[in-house]
Amino acid sequence: MRIIKNKRWFNTIKKFGGRMPYYCIPKSLQDVILLVKRAESENKRIKAVGSGHSFSDVAVPESYLVDLKKLDKLLSLDKDTIKPDFHTLNLVHVEGGMTVQKFNRRMELMDLCVANMGGIDNQTLAGAIATGTHGTGLGLPSFPGMVRSLLLVTHGGKCLRIEPTNGITNADQYNETGVELVQNDKIFYSAILSLGCFGIVYSFILEMEKMYYLEETKKCYEWSTIKPQLEDRSLFYEKDGTTPIRGVMVQVNPYENDQKDHTCIVVRHRLIEKKRGRSIGDATRNWISSILGRLPVSYWVIRRIANKNAAKMPKMIDRSLRSLKDKRYINKGYKILYQGAEFVKIRAYDSEFAFDMTGNKNDFVVALEEMFKKAESNKADKLYQTAPMGLRFVDQSPAYLSPEYRGQVAYIDTPFILHTPKLDEILLGYQEIMLKNKGIPHWGKINTILDGKPEIIQANYPKLKEWQEVFREFNPNKIFSNKFSDRLNLGFIGEEVPSENLNV
Ligand SMILES: Cc1cc2nc3c(=O)[nH]c(=O)nc-3n(C[C@H](O)[C@H](O)[C@H](O)COP(=O)(O)OP(=O)(O)OC[C@H]3O[C@@H](n4cnc5c(N)ncnc54)[C@H](O)[C@@H]3O)c2cc1C
Repeated sequence: MRIIKNKRWFNTIKKFGGRMPYYCIPKSLQDVILLVKRAESENKRIKAVGSGHSFSDVAVPESYLVDLKKLDKLLSLDKDTIKPDFHTLNLVHVEGGMTVQKFNRRMELMDLCVANMGGIDNQTLAGAIATGTHGTGLGLPSFPGMVRSLLLVTHGGKCLRIEPTNGITNADQYNETGVELVQNDKIFYSAILSLGCFGIVYSFILEMEKMYYLEETKKCYEWSTIKPQLEDRSLFYEKDGTTPIRGVMVQVNPYENDQKDHTCIVVRHRLIEKKRGRSIGDATRNWISSILGRLPVSYWVIRRIANKNAAKMPKMIDRSLRSLKDKRYINKGYKILYQGAEFVKIRAYDSEFAFDMTGNKNDFVVALEEMFKKAESNKADKLYQTAPMGLRFVDQSPAYLSPEYRGQVAYIDTPFILHTPKLDEILLGYQEIMLKNKGIPHWGKINTILDGKPEIIQANYPKLKEWQEVFREFNPNKIFSNKFSDRLNLGFIGEEVPSENLNV
């Protein structure tokens, strides 16, 4: 294992990080165990990082940084210990440091595919799972929903294989050396979205889908056409009103167009037969927008306009939305789910809030329209949006700390180009609107509205008490905590802090 002293680490947007006293690159499970024991014996904090793609400081370690980049392999799966009921599932065993990109390629070789993913693939599996990374699809899970089993190195260097009460492993046949099997719903549904606060996750057993093909269409509409279809949910179905569309995403310009409406692009992902022929047009995305997204110049052009000529942004967003139109693009599932525009995206900055959609709730529509008004009024202060707003939709999640724990949600995404003038000020305004309209912030994105307001977390997570009990069991000395979890008082919200809970 390599341990480098005082090495610099920053998240990708270079907002959070610093010199890490111990930058550790373990090469085996044993190394991870050693590191946890060592940090604990020195009463120092230890935290795993993934690719550093969280915009918030959720990942920032304080003393021991554990980078799992060498723990990125597929592992063998002992089928003999899996209960027969689960033999039909497409299960894969993988180390947590593998990036989503590498994982997708490996899965392709096995004719398997993720059910869903975020718009980029640079994250590690452990990082994406720990914050509940999601894509779009009202019937599709976010990352934690694919986890069937995980191996956690926790307090005391203990190794636990954690599964739901009715987990995939047959306890009678279980024989993993040095690892204790824990089959318990409370622990499992807490640990699959842990924000890195329970220890270091070494590996996962994930459930995959057989490789599938998707057709993507991108059509342009006015907001006034799309809004009622969102409210009555017809947007999520084919014209017959009963066949669900696998994934729907909406991107909208918050500024009015010449028709006093708002330009939208609706992206639809439909499952299609593998054998269907593909013309050249079908096999590629709209090439103009694909190429522009890959070019550094796109980022610099937007940044320059935002700084020098911001009043042009509303029209520019309109033009860029219209340029995304695409009749049809067909490819393997993960290739369609990957939304590209990588150069621009890794220089983005955003808040994203989830809104409960159960019982025909439409708070997300109300919030979005208030945000349109805010964008308009911000113009007077020369504050401008530098990208369209996005709507994505995700199925209910059993993870206790998932924003979609209560049911299906709509996420409102407010991306900006990094270094947009007065970015934090604009985002705070949007966060206030989303919170007022019952939105819940994404853990990995800008969620400063949560600071000093633990009641927001308490009100929105019905299983917070259970999650916190597991937190205190696995992280009794707050060795796996950081400034983010301290600031939000995670583990102790609404609880009496026991005197033995020392702050490391
Ligand atoms: C350009 C861009 C696009 C994005 N798109 C989306 C999107 O489409 N949908 C979405 O939901 N989110 C999106 N995000 C947010 C991102 O997916 C999450 O913040 C994700 O957590 C980042 O993964 P990471 O590997 O970089 O983890 P990091 O940011 O490095 O870490 C995230 C958390 O995981 C923990 N962690 C990492 N590894 C381990 C481990 N082995 N054991 C225990 N804990 C661990 C860390 O401690 C931390 O708490 C995007 C971010 C960026 C920068």
